[in-house]
Amino acid sequence: MRSYQVHKQGPIEANPLVMVERDVEEPGIGQVRILVEACGICHTDLHIAEGDLHPPNLPITPGHQVIGKIDKIGPPKISGNDREEIWIGKKVGVAWLHTTCGTCVMCMSGSENLCENAKFTGFHLNGGFAETMIADTSALLPIPENCNPVDYAPFLCAGIVGYRAVKRANVLDGDHIGLFGFGASAHLMLQVLKARSCRVSVFTRSTAHQNHATELGADWVGMPDQKPRDLLDNAILFTPAGESVVRALERIRNGGTVSINAIHMSDLPTIPYSLLYGEKTITSVTNATYQDAIEFLALAEKINLKTTVKPISFDELNAAMRDLKKSAIIGEAVLKVI
Ligand SMILES: [Zn+2]
Ligand SMILES: [Zn+2]
Repeated sequence: MRSYQVHKQGPIEANPLVMVERDVEEPGIGQVRILVEACGICHTDLHIAEGDLHPPNLPITPGHQVIGKIDKIGPPKISGNDREEIWIGKKVGVAWLHTTCGTCVMCMSGSENLCENAKFTGFHLNGGFAETMIADTSALLPIPENCNPVDYAPFLCAGIVGYRAVKRANVLDGDHIGLFGFGASAHLMLQVLKARSCRVSVFTRSTAHQNHATELGADWVGMPDQKPRDLLDNAILFTPAGESVVRALERIRNGGTVSINAIHMSDLPTIPYSLLYGEKTITSVTNATYQDAIEFLALAEKINLKTTVKPISFDELNAAMRDLKKSAIIGEAVLKVI
C-alpha cells in the first residue's frame, strides 16, 4: 500500500515526506485496521516533517485527522476498554490523542489529555497519510456513516482541539472574543462562537483569511497590530507567533483569558507585568480529551458546522504542506486517500 513517511526531518521545501510502498499491517490485540478515506493536514504534521517536534522513532507516517472504514479487527483486549461498538465496514475517525495510560492522576481525573504516557497518532504510531493504518479500538471516534470524509476530517483536530481552546478561554455566551490567526481551527471556532451569540474579532495578516472570516460572519477583521473599538473579553490564539500573546493581553479586559492553541510556539517576548496585572490569565491547550471530542462532534451536528476544505490528491501532499506553511490555505487542506 502507498504511504507517506518522514525518514529525515527537514524544511518542507526539501520534500521530507516521501511516498513509499509498504506492507499492509495486521491489527494486534485491541486494534483495528482502517482503510483510510481522507486525512486532514494539520500544522502539527508540518512541525513533525520539519523537525520542530521529534517523534521517538523515524520513519513515521504523520496524519491525525483520519476518516476511514474498519476493514479488519484484531483479537479483543482481555480487560476491554473499547469505547465504541465496532464492525467491519464501520466508519470511524482517529484524532491526535491515541492512547493514554489510564492509571495516572490525570487519566483518573478525566484530564487524560495531560497523561505523561500518552501516545499520539502520526507521532508515536503511524498515522493517516497512508492507504491503511492500524488504530487502537479505544482511539476510535464515531463518525456519521453518511458524512463526506473530506469535509468531515477537519473536525478531528482543528475542531476538537479548537473546541477545547474555546473552553479554556472561559467564554460566556455573548462575549466579545478575539481570534488571532485564521486557519483551519479558527474558521470552525468562529462559527461555534457565533452560535453562542458572541461578537468575534479576527486578527490576521492574510487578506484572503480576513475575507474568509468576514464571509463566515466575523464582526471585525484587521491586522494583528490593529485594535477593534472595544476591548475583548477573551482571546484565542491559533498562531505560533509568540508576540501575539502580548497583543492579545493588550486587547483583553481585566479578568480576561488568553487561550493559546498551539503545540509549538516561538519564544514569548518579555511581557511587562502591567499587562498581566488585572487578573488576566494566560493558558495553553494541550491535546483534547475523548469527552471533548464527543461533545464537539455532537455540537458540530447540532449547529450544522461547515468546513472550508481544499481537497488534495494523494501525490500532492508536500505541495499542500508548503502552502500551509505560507498560510496560503483557506480553511483546511485534506488529503484524499480514496
Ligand atoms: Zn492537529
Ligand atoms: Zn495517564
